[in-house]
Parts: sequence; structure tokens; C-alpha cells
Amino acid sequence: MKLEDRIRKVVPYVPGEQPKETNIIKLNTNECPYPPSKSVEEALNSMDKDRFRLYPDPAAADLVKALADHYGLSKDQVFVGVGSDDVLSMCFLTYFHSKDPVYFPDITYSFYDVWCDVYEIPYETKELSNDFTINPDDYIDSKAGGIVIANPNAPTGVLMPLDTIEEIVRTNPDKVVIVDEAYVDFGGISAIPLIEKYNNIVICQTFSKSWAMAGMRIGCALACPELIKAINDVKYSVNSYTMNMPSIVAGVAAVGDEAYFKEITGKIIKTREEAKKRLGELGFEFADSKANFIFAKHNTVSGDKIFNELKQRKIFVRHWNKPRIADYLRITIGTDEQMGKLYEALEEIVM
Ligand SMILES: *Cc1c(COP(=O)(O)O)cnc(C)c1O
Repeated sequence: MKLEDRIRKVVPYVPGEQPKETNIIKLNTNECPYPPSKSVEEALNSMDKDRFRLYPDPAAADLVKALADHYGLSKDQVFVGVGSDDVLSMCFLTYFHSKDPVYFPDITYSFYDVWCDVYEIPYETKELSNDFTINPDDYIDSKAGGIVIANPNAPTGVLMPLDTIEEIVRTNPDKVVIVDEAYVDFGGISAIPLIEKYNNIVICQTFSKSWAMAGMRIGCALACPELIKAINDVKYSVNSYTMNMPSIVAGVAAVGDEAYFKEITGKIIKTREEAKKRLGELGFEFADSKANFIFAKHNTVSGDKIFNELKQRKIFVRHWNKPRIADYLRITIGTDEQMGKLYEALEEIVM
């Protein structure tokens, strides 16, 4: 065997661009346009830096406790990791361990198929309907080895009703259903209450969008104690000290300021509803989004052209050259001021 044949080869996930320039309008990776809570800054400033000599708490117990209290769960129902990408990746490794293919939509978070490839998990994608809704029948009472649903879905923003999620979880009792709720805080309804009822649902959430802390890399999984124990066992078999000290401290401080969290998510929802109106007037079509972005297609101008013209004006949005979605742009909801500049630029481009 040749050296190169012994080496794992994968086609990696491509993250959205993080341009070095600062005078740009960045609407391409669904970050929050507002800063984190003041309490995060205060908590970080008052950290004892001498303690950085030491390893962090491998269980991140303070953050687990803060999240358990926040969600009304017990500590053994909470797992934390380095962003929900880390958490989801550990979930795939832990819960998808059979020959039966894992099911997820053809248009969804583009990391799912990458994790399946790297962990050699068989998978099958199920086509979204033309209106970008997920067809529940593809998942209810399925032959899958596991199921992953982003809710609201990315990059479409479309929300699946909670009773449909429950039907999928209820009719697939012998496999794990992961619900990726990265965007649920922008008007979605969380499936967290189902954790008390079912031992096969795992909910993943992140601090990167609604908590305004993408740079701190914090995410969590919420599930019954047996599933949380299983993922912890895998985590401790890969890397015990995943959460660094500042992230734990910042996460606890953020969760402690729920009023601010409600304020910024409320502002983003308001700006999003205005954006639906403005984009509609500019000739865009989109499915109704319950996330902090809108996935929109213009009725005459191509996605590629709008993407490039916006970029020339230093406005970054996300565009995929993929079948079915090549004419769509995923536009993150920014501040009202940023969105105003976006509408002005779009007027020049599409009118
Ligand atoms: C942003 C995102 C994540 C990952 O977020 P992290 O920054 O790793 O916490 C996971 N799932 C979906 C659908 C996302 O959009």
C-alpha cells in the first residue's frame, strides 16, 4: 500500500469568509450584529490570569450548571462543547454507529455530510419540497440509522412545527434524532420539553448567533442523562479539556443576563420582519424565515451577479454554487443601519 492510501482523505466543510477588512458590512455568517452582554466583558476582566497555568475544569461544571438552570433541566441533561460544531461532531460520532444510513435533508447545514464522510457514517439525503419545507413523511417511522433536522433549517430559515418534530421522535424510538436549534431563539419553538418524554432526542444549541459570542466557541447538547453520559464518554476519549477557561466564564456571564439576550434577539426579529417587506418590494422571493437570516432569490437577476456586485460594495452575503440554490443568497440580518445600506445597494443592482 502506498503512503497516500493510508491517509484519510476528506472534502472539508468551507466556512463563510471572515474578511480582514473592518469597514465592511458582514452579512455572510449569521453572526449577531450587536456586542455580547456587558456582563461578559466584566467577567472576563475580573478573571485571575494566573490560573491560566492550570487546566480548565474538564466538565465545565459552572457552565453546565448555568445552562441547566437557564433551560430548567438537570445538570446530567446538559453537555457543552467548543461551539455547536464540536458538539454536533461529537453527537455524530457517538449516536450514529450502525450500518443504517442517517437521514437529513438535501438542503441543510452543509457540515452534516462532511461529518458523515470523516466518521464513515452512511447517510441518505431527503429532498426538500419546492417551497423548501421538509417533508415529514421522509422521516416518520423511518428505516434510518439516525436523523438530523436543523430547526429552523439552514440556509432556508424554514421552521418545522413542534408536533411534527415530536411525531418524528416518537415514531423512531430505536434511533437518535438530533434537532439542531442554532437559530431557534429568533422566533422558533424549542423541542427542549420533549427531552423529559423521549430518550432518543438530542437538541443542540449555540452561543454563536443569538448570544452574540461566535468568537468564544460555545455550544451545548441537551438530552436525557443516558445520551449525555454516552457523549461525555466519547468526548473524554478524544479530548477532555475542550472548553477553555475564558469561554466557560464568558458563557456563564452571558446566560446570567437574560434581559439583554431578549433585547438583542427581539431587535433582530424586528429588523428581519422589516427586511421581508423591503426585499419583497425589491423583487426578491423567499420562504418565511424564523432565523436571523433570509434565504432569497431575485425574480430577474442571478444570485451570482448580486453576490459579486454586493461584494464590490463591501457588503458580504453568502452564496453557494450548488444545484437548486445557486440563485439564492443567504442574507444575515444586521443592524437597521447595515440593512439600510444593503437595500440601497440592492436598489442599484436589481432595479
Ligand atoms: C452556525 C451553525 C452551527 C454551528 O455553530 P457554532 O458556531 O459551531 O456553535 C451549527 N448548526 C447550524 C445549522 C448553524 O447554522
